[in-house]
Amino acid sequence: MTSVPFRSDILSLDPPGLKGGVCTACGAVSFPLRRFCPTCGVLDGLRETLLSNEGVVYSYTIVHQAPPPWQVPYILAYIDLPEQVRLLARIAGVDTSAVYVGMAVQLRLTPWELRDPTSAIEMLSYEFHPKADESAQLTSHDELAHVPAGMTGHE
Ligand SMILES: [Zn+2]
Repeated sequence: MTSVPFRSDILSLDPPGLKGGVCTACGAVSFPLRRFCPTCGVLDGLRETLLSNEGVVYSYTIVHQAPPPWQVPYILAYIDLPEQVRLLARIAGVDTSAVYVGMAVQLRLTPWELRDPTSAIEMLSYEFHPKADESAQLTSHDELAHVPAGMTGHE
């Protein structure tokens, strides 16, 4: 099966990532890639750059109504990337009651809901999932909490 991005202007499949623009005049990074820099206004001074695939939840809401075929509820969040880019994206792979401001998340490519199921072309979109080592950290904290006090210190 051939995979294509649902929008080739904002999503790269190889390597996987979101396409932003870096301004050659002021250095600001923005998303999506535009013809002008939203920071300094320079025209035709941006070149394409792949954004970081990891970010942090700035804010979020739980969406309870959406047209088919989207499944509700889902998490819609503002995510801050290290490049000072804040973007709006869906978060999946975590229960709606478990998401929180400050949660570390990472980009993941996912089949687009609106694709034609009879097509041989798979359209890929993107969403963010909790960062892989986030759950591992929670597990290790839980384990530490259950270690008897005398077992953690040195004699
Ligand atoms: Zn600029």
